[in-house]
Amino acid sequence: MEFFDLKDKKEALSWLLSTGEEARKLRQAAHEVKMAHVGNKVYLRALIEYSNVCRKNCYYCGIRSGNSAVRRYTVGKDEVLRAARFAHQAGFGSLVLQSGERQDEAFIRDIEELVDAMMQQSGGELGITLSLGEQKPETYARWKKAGAIRYLLRIETSSPGLYTRLHPAGHSFQARLDCLKSLRDAGYQVGSGIMIGLPFQSPEQVVEDVYFLKEMDVDMVGMGPYIEHPQTPLWEYRDRIPSKQERYDWSLNAWALLRLIAPDINIASTTAIGSLSPKGREEALYAAANVIMPNLTPFSCRKEYFLYEHKICIEESHEDSRENIERIIREAGCEPEYFSQGNSRHFHARFQGE
Ligand code: SF4
Repeated sequence: MEFFDLKDKKEALSWLLSTGEEARKLRQAAHEVKMAHVGNKVYLRALIEYSNVCRKNCYYCGIRSGNSAVRRYTVGKDEVLRAARFAHQAGFGSLVLQSGERQDEAFIRDIEELVDAMMQQSGGELGITLSLGEQKPETYARWKKAGAIRYLLRIETSSPGLYTRLHPAGHSFQARLDCLKSLRDAGYQVGSGIMIGLPFQSPEQVVEDVYFLKEMDVDMVGMGPYIEHPQTPLWEYRDRIPSKQERYDWSLNAWALLRLIAPDINIASTTAIGSLSPKGREEALYAAANVIMPNLTPFSCRKEYFLYEHKICIEESHEDSRENIERIIREAGCEPEYFSQGNSRHFHARFQGE
């Protein structure tokens, strides 16, 4: 029997807003669906924040091009390969290369060469995810050919009106949708995600966002609470957002709702939820998530990939990070799945269907 009528968005809204015992029931129901469809294994994706250079100027983002207080960096090729070797030898199985958005040929070629080198270095064993923003279909195809298998491009909100309020002119909601389609056409496992608790965002919109991810038929999701950053235009509206506790509860409930309506996708337990509460990542893993991303960005650069206030994992060493991540996974009642690319079951089912 289903926990609730999954087509009933009004009911979903009441669960999104639930607290206390009601929220516990929702997360327990999601946990049971998770165990039945993806089990208690958690995939590890080493995260490398490759560069904070970005041509875009999103109003919520600390590394937006208009923020002149940021020291810009790009991690050297040797350092990326060293971190990738560490990840492979530590059994992380997969890696995420994330960066601000650039579309110039030098950047495209650097990524292409890096992906190819990481594939060669790992004997093709490392599953490579890219999160490098909007690109032309030819670029997505080049990086896929070089060996990348997954791509994460967050929509942030499914409301075109809200999207417009969060971005300056020249940032197009339709362009983002087109990119998500191109990624699917290129054969990637496609991921997207949303922010929860934004200024001007209603809880009804959050419910719509969760259903949008299902309708987009994504293979994986990286989402989390909105956390304000003082060097962004949205800082001005920090008094108009839900409290930290509300953003935390809504986020965990949104994760649970998503697991209930999309049982076989990969869902990441993101650093943003851990930044709101010390137990955030454990709770997300228990209720719904099955992916976690240890940060392997070189220490000299981590402080500069400062997307929002109070971001965690800025000071940990690689080994600390691995131990810490393993502790989080076990405290959530789950098991780390080493030496696995952690591909999305939904993608396999979709691929066979197509
Ligand atoms: S959210 Fe992404 S695209 Fe927008 S400014 Fe930040 S890094 Fe650039």
